[in-house]
Amino acid sequence: MFKRPVERFFVKKNLSRVSLRVALVYPNLYRGASSSLGYQLVYFLLNSYPEVACERATLEWPLTIESGLPLKRFDVVAFSLYYELDYVNVLRIIRESGLNPRRSGRDRPLVIAGGPCTANPYPLSEYVDAFVVGCFEAVADRLVETLLSHSGEKRPCLESLASTPGVFVPEVGNPTVLQRVANLDSSFYPVPQVLSQEGPFSSCFMLELSRGCSWGCNFCLLGYTQRPRRDRSARRLAELLEEAKRYGYEKVAFISSDFLGHPDAVRVVNMALEMGYSISLPSLRADAVGDELISTLERGRVRTVTVAPETASKKLKRVLGKEIKNEALLNLAGSLPKTVSTLKLYFMVGVPGETKEDVKQNLELISRVYRAFKKGGAGRRVVVSINPFIPKPHTPLQYCPFPNLERLRGVLNAFRELRAPGLTLRFLHPKRAFIQAFLSLGGLDAAEVLARVFESGLNPSAWFKAIGSALETVKRVREGCNPEEELPWEIVETGIPREHLRLRFARAMEAAGKR
Ligand code: SF4
Repeated sequence: MFKRPVERFFVKKNLSRVSLRVALVYPNLYRGASSSLGYQLVYFLLNSYPEVACERATLEWPLTIESGLPLKRFDVVAFSLYYELDYVNVLRIIRESGLNPRRSGRDRPLVIAGGPCTANPYPLSEYVDAFVVGCFEAVADRLVETLLSHSGEKRPCLESLASTPGVFVPEVGNPTVLQRVANLDSSFYPVPQVLSQEGPFSSCFMLELSRGCSWGCNFCLLGYTQRPRRDRSARRLAELLEEAKRYGYEKVAFISSDFLGHPDAVRVVNMALEMGYSISLPSLRADAVGDELISTLERGRVRTVTVAPETASKKLKRVLGKEIKNEALLNLAGSLPKTVSTLKLYFMVGVPGETKEDVKQNLELISRVYRAFKKGGAGRRVVVSINPFIPKPHTPLQYCPFPNLERLRGVLNAFRELRAPGLTLRFLHPKRAFIQAFLSLGGLDAAEVLARVFESGLNPSAWFKAIGSALETVKRVREGCNPEEELPWEIVETGIPREHLRLRFARAMEAAGKR
């Protein structure tokens, strides 16, 4: 039985005094919700409208945390989608709330979804009435206005939503343009944030330094849907740090996909240290870490540093479009201060064009990084996450197939030979990665698969039985797709021309030796 979380700074409004009641659902565990800045941002932004009350729910807490009410008592049920594997949880939560999971069999409440996964809304399009695509802040005013003015009939509300830029309504089938916040300084930011004892960022104030990333690595959804990178100014960041201090926060978790791309990143971290905060940093680009950051890490007594080199192979770096030199990673591992006790690395396997030689290079690099880091202290740990390549929509590598499962297992077994004290390997299971790829590249046929998996009681083996019926999506996942053909998710326009993706794909395939 889930115990009601102990929290501070949540919002509790009188539901009978507002015009619009929203249940905001994180379709996974509470600890994930409490560490998601995006989820918290939507929660506080919705509550900033006087006519709106927003309450939270999660997978294990399907009654709202604030009032303990079932979701069907709300006008809108809104899901935050961060992982494709959470899609079945969306169906489960809707059904457990006593509602019909299919949008066609449901009148009220309206079910809305937002978050990075909505860049391809199709797999959930039979269940969700409207998708918010892109930054919520950019759509919020129009969305709230529409929901407030159409509290009666569903169809007029959906038609009005479909005319809102950044909202996709499956019943209308409107093409839409992904929305981005242009200026972070003038956009809403939640201070305080819900404080709880659960989750990796428990008791932290999450501070978003910048949003998006301009590197445009060929495999990265964010690198294509959230570019260019937009920075919060040092002045605004200082204001937010001061405001959070007044609420008693003692630790800051900096959030950014391209942390060191921010021109004032190190200065702002030092500012936080001077204010008496302890700090946690996001993943760092090894080739951007300079002496100044190294001394800041020491001064801040930072314990964990995360780096995502993806691969050791020069060839595969070109395929992925992420070319961080191995020497930069080795230098970093050897120069981290003694305060850093854990080095986390992210590697990708099954990259198009990968050979045994490339895998061998990965193993050698991990061993060298391990030795360089361990020289700084015998008790230090290296944690390596090894994830299969998953083609993502709207990226140049969207045209590639998911790697062969049998071959993937062989590659992962090769990694298992790496054994050393203080070295931990973590794998994303190839079958789970395959399901993720299926949902990433899913068309309308993937929606029916979700229903079948759900009806079969979410048994993992049900996935592989059900997937066979989605011929078009399975073909894309197993064989890749023709860059000349139109793809289902192109109903969402990201602003990156199709020609650009095709060109980058062609270059990547050339680097992979496939042309
Ligand atoms: S992988 Fe990292 S560096 Fe590359 S585009 Fe994505 S966020 Fe940016």
